[in-house]
Amino acid sequence: MIVIENAYVAPVVGAEIPDGHVAIEGNRIVSVGAGPYPGAGERVDGRGRLVTPGLVNTHHHLYQWASQGLAPDGTLFEWLVASYPVWARMDAEVVHGAATAGLAWLALSGCTTTTDHHYVFPKGRGDLFAAEIQAAAEVGLRFHPCRGSMDRGRSQGGLPPDEVVETLDEILAETEAAVRKYHDPLFDSMVRVAVAPCSPFSVSGDLMRQAAALARDLKVRLHTHGAETLDEDDHCKEQFGMLPVEYLESLGWLGPDVWIAHSVHLTDADIARFAETGTGTAHCPSSNGRLGAGIARVSELLRAGATVGLGVDGPGSAEFIPLAGEIRQAMLMQRARYGPQALTARQALEIATIGGARCLGRETEIGSLEPGKLADVAVWRVDGPYAAAADPIVALGYGQTPPLARLIVNGVTVVEDGELRTVSGEAAGAAGARAHARLLRS
Ligand SMILES: [Zn+2]
Repeated sequence: MIVIENAYVAPVVGAEIPDGHVAIEGNRIVSVGAGPYPGAGERVDGRGRLVTPGLVNTHHHLYQWASQGLAPDGTLFEWLVASYPVWARMDAEVVHGAATAGLAWLALSGCTTTTDHHYVFPKGRGDLFAAEIQAAAEVGLRFHPCRGSMDRGRSQGGLPPDEVVETLDEILAETEAAVRKYHDPLFDSMVRVAVAPCSPFSVSGDLMRQAAALARDLKVRLHTHGAETLDEDDHCKEQFGMLPVEYLESLGWLGPDVWIAHSVHLTDADIARFAETGTGTAHCPSSNGRLGAGIARVSELLRAGATVGLGVDGPGSAEFIPLAGEIRQAMLMQRARYGPQALTARQALEIATIGGARCLGRETEIGSLEPGKLADVAVWRVDGPYAAAADPIVALGYGQTPPLARLIVNGVTVVEDGELRTVSGEAAGAAGARAHARLLRS
């Protein structure tokens, strides 16, 4: 039993508790309430601490830790064209090292559940999917790896060079095998797999349709990139005669089991369709800013009742990846577009927690602090040296990301007093550096 007491508790679902407790037994939350907890257990002093649900990262490409800094002033398409030949050289060792470093940073920024979208599988380079699942188990995060894919190389009118794409048959077989091997549907699952063709400009319509059928057959979720840039709008109009969301809908890719990365360039009709169909958005503000993609219509999506989660995107297109920092970035970008009431710190915390859980179909298990839910909990230091705001949610959202007093995932302490407990932070950073060196010299 772990008992966090005397803390400012923000359950996200339900009222905030200025002087409250969260009690954890095994991998479940057993009590959230005012005052001390009457039962026995290891005490964590919560004075000067803010307790929130662990953050949920809904979009990432962990392998890109090893390819940071390419095309620093490029558009999405320019950056991709510069990156594909580098990614073609990656192997399982690069993926494991890059994922270890990326996952360590996520843990240190309050993330307890993360997705990863891996879509480059060069031949003869080892089991890349297994490598990242192993890294997540070592760091101790709840993991939703998305088996990505590309089958439309340059010779087929796509953007990627032919050497980084796979055939449709290979992709479907490998994706099904990954789901059967790793996907765990149980309530307290630590690994769930999604089916995730990469994007309209790197994937055939046939693959999108068959991937959707496969995912629905296997009862797993669907993820892809969509409506990220105006170049993508032009590509879709030219190749398919419609805009990205219309194209996705024509392929059976809107629905409550789908979440889409970016969704920056949405029409009013797209926003309404996202809300009506339950389609989720993984909002990645730093990446959108870095690539000059635009500012997503997040506050309008939320007003329409659509599901929105937060994502850091890959460190190749958003070298700054602490997830808590994206809370601030999301607020700033919405306010820059719509004014100071566009997204409050509390709304931003919501999309970073329960919104992300909804994207992953796990809102009954994670994303809020409620008895019976899984014990994924972040305890932030919002006292003197780190924050001087009276409102701890304002301190978390507006200020420098505070250090973690604790990060608990599935009842296990992963971070304590700002240091990783599961792996050494220094070793994780070194693994990332080695992955970078290996990828660039190979
Ligand atoms: Zn992405």
